[in-house]
Amino acid sequence: MDSVAEVQPFDFIIVGGGTAGNSVAGRLAENPKVRVLVIEAGIGNPQEIENITTPAKAFDLRGSQYDWAYKTTMIKREDYERVEKPNTRGKVLGGSSCANYFTWIPGSKATFDDWEEFGGKDWTWDNIVGYLRKCATYHDDQKLYPKELSKVGTGGPLQISHADLIPEIEPFRDALTNAWTSKGHELNEDIYSGTMHGLTHCLDTVYKGTRQGSFLYLNGKPNVTVLSSVQSKKLIIDPTTKACTGVEAINPATGEELTLTAKYEVIVSQGVFESPKLLMLSGVGPASELKQHGIPVIVDSRHVGQNLLDHPIVPFVLRLKDGYGLDDHLLRPGQAHDGAVSAYCRDKSGPLSSGLLEMVGFPRIDERLNKYAAYRDIKAANGGLDPFGPGGQPHFELDFVPMFSSAFQWHYPIPPSGSAFTIIVDLLRPLSKGEVKLNSANPLQQANINLNFFGEDLDILAMREGVRWTYDVLTKGEGMKDIVTGDYPWEMPIHSDEAMNKVVLERSQTGFHPCGTTRLSKNIEQGVVDPQLRVHGVKNLRVIDASVIPVIPDCRPQNSVYMIAEKAADMIKAQYSSLYS
Ligand SMILES: Cc1cc2nc3c(=O)[nH]c(=O)nc-3n(C[C@H](O)[C@H](O)[C@H](O)COP(=O)(O)OP(=O)(O)OC[C@H]3O[C@@H](n4cnc5c(N)ncnc54)[C@H](O)[C@@H]3O)c2cc1C
Repeated sequence: MDSVAEVQPFDFIIVGGGTAGNSVAGRLAENPKVRVLVIEAGIGNPQEIENITTPAKAFDLRGSQYDWAYKTTMIKREDYERVEKPNTRGKVLGGSSCANYFTWIPGSKATFDDWEEFGGKDWTWDNIVGYLRKCATYHDDQKLYPKELSKVGTGGPLQISHADLIPEIEPFRDALTNAWTSKGHELNEDIYSGTMHGLTHCLDTVYKGTRQGSFLYLNGKPNVTVLSSVQSKKLIIDPTTKACTGVEAINPATGEELTLTAKYEVIVSQGVFESPKLLMLSGVGPASELKQHGIPVIVDSRHVGQNLLDHPIVPFVLRLKDGYGLDDHLLRPGQAHDGAVSAYCRDKSGPLSSGLLEMVGFPRIDERLNKYAAYRDIKAANGGLDPFGPGGQPHFELDFVPMFSSAFQWHYPIPPSGSAFTIIVDLLRPLSKGEVKLNSANPLQQANINLNFFGEDLDILAMREGVRWTYDVLTKGEGMKDIVTGDYPWEMPIHSDEAMNKVVLERSQTGFHPCGTTRLSKNIEQGVVDPQLRVHGVKNLRVIDASVIPVIPDCRPQNSVYMIAEKAADMIKAQYSSLYS
């Protein structure tokens, strides 16, 4: 830390070396004279950690030293409450890009166009689509997919490729595809041009058997200094001028403290739970909340920590005939496992090289929803627009994992033998909203997180019907129905609304896609940051990460987060044009 102190001030300080933080740092450092500091709470060498770089080990990261492992209120209703731990976020240089499950999905045009209400024209599909594609370089080494898809990655540092079609699960893949089409649903390889429907082969942040994370933005950038294993304590904001000049930080292991100053700007990129926490600790937040913890108010900003959106999921497991899943290859010792390990050691191929979410489905289930008066009433009150997909977006993302996945089913033991199949039903535009508050003024104490899933009853109904729709395809569709041998750990009570509602409350989890806690806005009455992602009421301070998202992406969100970082970096470069001309 001494050496960092000696080279101050930095031009820009980025607090949180995660998905967005490193991307912004890498772009700002494109002028080799600009000096950027990244402060990261986790370790700084993700590329050397096998569990991070090996795709199929991703599920093992939950609860590890690279996980913030948040305690989280999942549901808080009059009739049902559930608090759980751990809720995973990456704690390492690269943040959640080092802990996530790789799928690379852009989202629908209609959803980004809904961002206009908050961020103006700059934040609509036409003005963001270039940034969705700038962050990555597309690979289809085996030339299996339409050529036009190369537009999806146009030279960025992340190498993305279609999930390897590993031979071990070819029969499973064929059965799934057959079941889907036999039920009259479409296959679609282009979910990248503004609409997303059907079953698709996923693109992943995996290339040549190795995870691609935001740390790649820092390669070849000696003008970025990374201060790892150091946590922010507080932003330094002058109460009179309301200008942010730096950050106070602490090494939690040694207690050593440091004051770091920025010549131009401080950029907060600590993620959805930690970015609003840092703002509040620094006096920017709802006055009542700050006063409760004895924090002097610099800007009374009532949306800080509010508008927390996330995708609730219901995972379920089907038993398959022996040999159809990867359970023996990845979960249990034995011959298949030894073979998988040696293939990966040899040339990074085989089951260990797989991101595991190979195929993803995007259905709408209008017919089922329209059967219920509760849904029809809310739709009518919404001007006749479907609340779960007003612009024709998919209602669900369905992820199909060809084995038992403990990352989504941590309450149940790994089946001791046989093959299993984990299905994740992800409700893409829930009506319920949660919030992040402080537990105390201690920067080392985690924030108080309430995801508030199913706060709105209609989310339960939609989720229940989504599970039923999916269960029907998988247990009755051609091909799949011949290899599914039962449920695990117990039967899905598919014929009872009441029992299915209970399943939704009892078995739901987070999809790990939270956003919104410092949302994009036209003014402080609507949110926390302006369309340039500058914090309302404070000078020289931005938030750039998933917290600024005002309407949740209708898919897994990492592509959106990289897009935000890329766009924001260009905005900063335009503002400091003398540095970047
Ligand atoms: C388990 C999991 C699976 C997922 N799977 C997918 C997927 O398959 N596809 C997809 O598109 N998306 C997926 N996501 C979501 C996606 O990865 C995230 O939305 C995205 O990475 C969030 O980026 P961010 O920059 O907002 O936050 P992060 O990447 O989490 O970055 C925040 C950074 O700030 C650091 N930090 C926090 N507090 C402090 C502090 N006080 N001081 C210093 N540093 C601090 C953190 O350690 C971290 O490095 C998944 C996420 C998780 C957790």
